[in-house]
Amino acid sequence: MASSSSSVKQAEAFPDGTTDFKPMRGKAYDIRKPHISEQPMTLKNWYKHVNWLNVYFILFIPLCGLISTYWIRAHPYTILFAVVYYFNCGLGITGGYHRLWAHTSFKATLPLRIYLAAVGAGAMQGSIRWWSRDHRAHHRYTDTEKDPYSVRKGLLYSHIGWMVMKQNPRRIGRTDISDLNEDPVVVWQHTNYIKCVLTMALGFPTLVCGLGWNDWLGGFVYAGILRVFFIQQATFCVNSLAHWLGDQPFDDRNSPRDHVITALVTLGEGYHNFHHEFPSDYRNAIQWWQYDPTKWSIWTWKQLGLAYDLKQFRQNEIEKGRLQQLQKKLDQKRATLDWGIPLEQLPVISWDDFVEQSKNGKALTAIAGVIHDVTDFIKDHPGGKALISSAIGKDATAIFNGGVYNHSNAAHNLLSTMRVGVLRGGCEVEIWKRAQYESKDVSYVTDSEGRRIVRAGEQLTRVAQPIANAHAA
Ligand SMILES: [Zn+2]
Ligand SMILES: [Zn+2]
Repeated sequence: MASSSSSVKQAEAFPDGTTDFKPMRGKAYDIRKPHISEQPMTLKNWYKHVNWLNVYFILFIPLCGLISTYWIRAHPYTILFAVVYYFNCGLGITGGYHRLWAHTSFKATLPLRIYLAAVGAGAMQGSIRWWSRDHRAHHRYTDTEKDPYSVRKGLLYSHIGWMVMKQNPRRIGRTDISDLNEDPVVVWQHTNYIKCVLTMALGFPTLVCGLGWNDWLGGFVYAGILRVFFIQQATFCVNSLAHWLGDQPFDDRNSPRDHVITALVTLGEGYHNFHHEFPSDYRNAIQWWQYDPTKWSIWTWKQLGLAYDLKQFRQNEIEKGRLQQLQKKLDQKRATLDWGIPLEQLPVISWDDFVEQSKNGKALTAIAGVIHDVTDFIKDHPGGKALISSAIGKDATAIFNGGVYNHSNAAHNLLSTMRVGVLRGGCEVEIWKRAQYESKDVSYVTDSEGRRIVRAGEQLTRVAQPIANAHAA
């Protein structure tokens, strides 16, 4: 109990700007009483776990609408209007709720704010204030217990489960929404939400189709209920599909992903990996050819003088993120390849031992202080058996590096996989190895996991100026 009361204090102390407002419905939530979600679901109490208001709005009404299409037919104009209104209400969510209010990625004049709040209500997804609060928590606590629609709890949960089942308000991460409380459009829409949603989601489309071409029932079912259903499902895809399907070009430590299918479904919200990295950018897609009608709309509003202060991250910052992720992928790929035994794991062998072993059947050759066993390679040597055999039991640094033949980058790479020891008195190599033992600073390039990076042309066995050049022409 002690810990729960301290968490209550903590929750009350956090200034999230949510204290001055009456909750939208029901009596005030008492943070002191245990929440239903803290009790396990049983046959006796399961109905208490269900958020019936949401079930009604996102499952029951759409289901009734779907069933009624069996009897009710729509006028062609009704279908046309439903599609046009679908895009308007969709924009209310993507351009309004999401990019304007949740992320303040641009500023909008009063007429545009009223339009977006109105058509946003027509999408039946809660008030701007409620929606933005949860969305800010989603960005701040992505994939954690405090993320209201964490995909880590399953695809279905992130799509719809989090709304159908009651959520413990104490669990959801808190965020600052004081800026939203200062926008009178947001506040008015929040306090009059039920009126707004009934008018814009059902009343307005019914009226247009009824007064326009006398299709009252068709307008109510197709342009009202079914259109709402499709917008809701499309928006839910940003929480589910955009965290599940596609690539992660900017950061793969969290779940957000980029995919054109999600973008097509959600008016351009599908470049979600980019969006989570650069959330206050008014764009989701940064390439001109990518599908982001929400971005195009915001840009058009700017040209019309309705929107201003469009926020955009510098290309330099975006490319840095992309490069770091590419580098991570490169590191992972590099780690799967055989670069030879690391020098520090090789035994130090004396010159005499090396010569001795070479005489007793082992095909060893020393290059740049590293001993290589080429026994299995002699028959495959592109330069022929004779040349490679002439290097056995010898220091072949010079002949390998241009004395006889200036070996390719690939040859140096291949050679490194045959290394078996380090020559005592092998100059640099031995000094390097000794320093490793004594954990002194040895400068070489490593990747993020501390694995050594061997760049083309910079292999240890490559020596710029051959020490001896007796056979050079
Ligand atoms: Zn997300
Ligand atoms: Zn967002």
